[in-house]
Amino acid sequence: MDIFTEVKENVSMDSLVRHFNLKVNRQNFMICPFHNEDTASLKIYENSFYCFGCQRAGTVIDFTLYYLDMDILQATKYLAKVFNIAINEKLTIREKYIQDISKRKTSDKVFEKWIKNTWDTILTYYRILYHNSFTYDLENDLYVEAIHNLTKLDYYIDWLKEDPLEFYKLNRKWVKTIDRRVHSLNK
Ligand SMILES: [Zn+2]
Repeated sequence: MDIFTEVKENVSMDSLVRHFNLKVNRQNFMICPFHNEDTASLKIYENSFYCFGCQRAGTVIDFTLYYLDMDILQATKYLAKVFNIAINEKLTIREKYIQDISKRKTSDKVFEKWIKNTWDTILTYYRILYHNSFTYDLENDLYVEAIHNLTKLDYYIDWLKEDPLEFYKLNRKWVKTIDRRVHSLNK
């Protein structure tokens, strides 16, 4: 299990807000620390939170990184330390990748351009597969590819919508593969 999953599964939202000394009412609402308010509109669930005022939402890791202004790896390690979660000292590939990426300065322009191109690539690929998914022809490679990949693509599209930065950090290799595939199909 990677450190992210480990932390998410072992730290409850309840223990997290207690750790930060934040008050939660009986309905599990608290004053949102992320926007100005007088009535509590941030609701905590077992392992996540949602603010009905500013729409900020996420896991215990997200809460921590917003609250302490850290990046995802810092926040995760912070929680592992505070809640005594033994983590393998050797970084997993995914963690190392995130760390490398966050060290490298990514200019906003490069990032924005990448996001735009990625949307083009993914949506083009999606359209191709979508059309082929109605051929119901097992001899058609693209029909088979569509059956295998459309659900996965939905998931990636949601991810890209919800957290472009994390998507950028974790999926560049995958996007390259898709991009090559789209190019080969357009030939
Ligand atoms: Zn809020």
